[in-house]
Amino acid sequence: MKKPGLLIIIAGPSGVGKGTIRKKVMENKKLNLVFSISLTTRKKRVGEKNGADYFFVTKQKFLNAIKNNDLLEYNNYVGNYYGTSKKQVNQVRKAGKNVILEIDVNGAKNVAKAFKKNEILSFFIVPPSLKELEKRIRGRSTETDVTIKKRLAKAKEEMKLKNKFNYIIVNDTPERASQEIINIIKNATALRG
Ligand code: 5GP
Repeated sequence: MKKPGLLIIIAGPSGVGKGTIRKKVMENKKLNLVFSISLTTRKKRVGEKNGADYFFVTKQKFLNAIKNNDLLEYNNYVGNYYGTSKKQVNQVRKAGKNVILEIDVNGAKNVAKAFKKNEILSFFIVPPSLKELEKRIRGRSTETDVTIKKRLAKAKEEMKLKNKFNYIIVNDTPERASQEIINIIKNATALRG
């Protein structure tokens, strides 16, 4: 039987660039990574694809998934539900592949409770400064002003929990940050054998 893959968690405040970094890390095919596509009730942003970025579902469908115990973890983030599919994660790990979860700090906390320490590798991405983060969230201009304010407040709260993660990565440039993560994953998987 294959050794189950690692659970790789990428967390960090909204707008910090988790998605860009995650995609760059995944370009390295040697790392054997599969992205865990979350379920969300949030509206699709321009450029996002159903079944690639998220599974965009209705609130009713999401509540059913909770009821049926289909979710490994879930959270309500600034008014929308987000959750990780248990089945997806189990299938990927069973195949000996490493699964990447791009989730918020609350979700990360719940995943940490459910697995052994040596099954998880967690990263918290921080912006070079809070000013820079604000610029990025505003620059995305896909959200209303109220949502932007809520996301910024949430970001400040989330930043307080960064020390709970295995590694804190500064997103000065996505190239450098993703390379740092790639090196850490390489070392961790080599050590596991
Ligand atoms: P966004 O709306 O910007 O795509 O995501 C909002 C927040 O929810 C981000 O921090 C994102 O990483 C997080 N998120 C995405 N999928 C999940 C998930 O399955 N579970 C949890 N707990 N958070 C998620």
